[in-house]
Amino acid sequence: AGPAVDPAAAVDTHCPYCALQCGMRLAPSPATAGGVEVVEREAFPVNRGALCGKGRTAPEVLARGLRLTQPLVRDPGSGALVPTDWETALDRVAAGLSGVRERHGADAVGVFGGGGLTNEKAYALGKFTRLVLGSSQIDYNGRFCMSSAAAAGNRAFGVDRGLPFPLADIPRTGCVILVGSNLADTMPPALRYFTELRENGGTLVVIDPRRTRTAEQADLHLAPRPGTDLALALGMLHLVVAEGRVDEAFVAERTSGWEEARAAAMAHWPELVERVTGVPVPRLREAVRMFCAPEAAMVLTARGPEQHSKGTDTVGAWINLCLATGRAGRPLSGYGCLTGQGNGQGGREHGQKADQLPGYRMLADQAAREHVAGVWGVDPDTLPGPGRSAYELLDALGRDTPDGVRALLLMASNPVVSAPRAAHVEERMRALDFLAVCDVVLSESARLADVVLPVTQWAEETGTMTNLEGRVILRQRAVAPPPGCRSDLEVLNALAARLGWEKGFRTDPAEVFDELRRASAGGKADYSGITYRRIAEEDGVFWPCPERAEGPPHPGTPRLFLDRFATPDGRARFAPVLHRPAAEEPDGEYPLLLTTGRVLAQYQSGAQTRRVARQNAAAPGPFVQLHPRLADRLGVTEGERLAVVSRRGRAVAPARISADIRPDTVFMPFHWPGEGRANSLTNPALDPTSRMPEFKVCAVRVERADEA
Ligand code: SF4
Repeated sequence: AGPAVDPAAAVDTHCPYCALQCGMRLAPSPATAGGVEVVEREAFPVNRGALCGKGRTAPEVLARGLRLTQPLVRDPGSGALVPTDWETALDRVAAGLSGVRERHGADAVGVFGGGGLTNEKAYALGKFTRLVLGSSQIDYNGRFCMSSAAAAGNRAFGVDRGLPFPLADIPRTGCVILVGSNLADTMPPALRYFTELRENGGTLVVIDPRRTRTAEQADLHLAPRPGTDLALALGMLHLVVAEGRVDEAFVAERTSGWEEARAAAMAHWPELVERVTGVPVPRLREAVRMFCAPEAAMVLTARGPEQHSKGTDTVGAWINLCLATGRAGRPLSGYGCLTGQGNGQGGREHGQKADQLPGYRMLADQAAREHVAGVWGVDPDTLPGPGRSAYELLDALGRDTPDGVRALLLMASNPVVSAPRAAHVEERMRALDFLAVCDVVLSESARLADVVLPVTQWAEETGTMTNLEGRVILRQRAVAPPPGCRSDLEVLNALAARLGWEKGFRTDPAEVFDELRRASAGGKADYSGITYRRIAEEDGVFWPCPERAEGPPHPGTPRLFLDRFATPDGRARFAPVLHRPAAEEPDGEYPLLLTTGRVLAQYQSGAQTRRVARQNAAAPGPFVQLHPRLADRLGVTEGERLAVVSRRGRAVAPARISADIRPDTVFMPFHWPGEGRANSLTNPALDPTSRMPEFKVCAVRVERADEA
């Protein structure tokens, strides 16, 4: 399992959690349960030593008492998961996957990955699925993260990279509109960029239906009704046109499709937008003035506007606003997405996404297939085509139909908690013929498995991640894993051998990265000029970074689009988008809106952070945030157990009464399983382009739990 750790050395690495990928130093600490302790790493420019509580307590997840250290198999007699040895467990997985493949065909075997996997693992998992299993059925939980922003970015700019500029540009711009991001809770060290922006005289506009800790920092906070961000963006563009603020020269020289987008925006009168969003026209005008007054400005979106059945068009409308005002493809200006998961960006660049091959190549593109097949040493015609998106894949599990997926290999994801309509997803997982899970902890999803393989994690292994800026960074091994754990790369190699793949799979991350570089060469996300050594020396390298045959190495590309956009004609493309309602609107039976999100102390499905004592003490369970007027109307008091009911299920949690939320909306964080599982309620209505489910809005009613 890799080279021995030098116990005398502290190691520079990165936090295991969110897309900021904060730099940290891990020093040996034999007295602590995880064997290492976090030391500040001030030299790393993204976080300059700052960490949130999740990062500071991350070594606790390494503790042997918290995690899996032995493979588990389902005992046919008792039905319980019981410990076994690795050979038995791997044999069972290989037999489970190959048995389904023989009985029902290769596409009856699915693979579901995660945005926390390193680039090397994401690459290997995509290759394993397409070559060894011969299946097209792979997607990952990043589909639930930023796929709408990715689709809109691709449509407008020809490529998407979370931020097309470094975070360090934020304090030097004139205004930022932050749409649907509570980064004060999700990635607190990033808040300083916005604090510095304001200290430098810039302005911050936050758009969020809740007055979050991020919104409290804003010069202007707009709180639209959930599901109406698209109308809000269109209303702002309408005002930009009406007030003569269009940058005609930029539009003429660097964009296409303006007339159609302009006509669409002009149908959204401010008064109409006020009725739809609840945001008064004067505040809309104020936001436009703030955005247009300075020379440079940015729009940054996060899950708030993206996790909708119209997420792609919503992001497209914000991009339209940037393009019409000449705030894209220029220094200190542009549209960017704040990716959520640690490797949400890299996870999809290297072949883990249903429609993509390494290097951000599209699976349906013959030239892309030929290039990647050449690196893999296979005939391009043997590569399967695009598969289903994440929710569609989960929905197909265990179905006794010709296109049903009967076996699943699940890696680094916990859909029982994190998927929309989670009770249904759980039911589908239970209906599988065979489920294998690779994870570090016995998550709620792992509990359903036939075989659970305990794998190594962040500080125990080396590998690259790509943060929200497109900066490729290196996680380095700092501590030896428990003897019973193996890396995901070793698992894939062992399974490949058992499944008849004679060429083997590389298990050394550096060798996998070298292959990934070649597979990505010439693609939009070109990593071919990036090496582990350069990453360590340069505090990360921004893609694209092609390898040069001669002369000085390519410096990497911190800022995209300054000369041209990545479209065939080099012009950014407007999208002529129109507002449409959410897939589910309130009615007499379900009169309120539910929106879901995150809290400071927990990360995603909580599989790791719920096991960390300090994080769990800070946020021990879910709650239902509701406005005092709504609480009065319902006769609800603080802490009272409430049942939130949607067309898909019911979730129970205590009331948290706060004037920081709209009276027509309730909020639940989604980190917990059981009766408080917020995703029991959420709507899997999919965006037609990105296939993003509508996590952020659905119709609900709220009742006293004990009366319901
Ligand atoms: Fe980790 Fe994100 Fe917190 Fe940084 S902000 S310490 S990357 S969870």
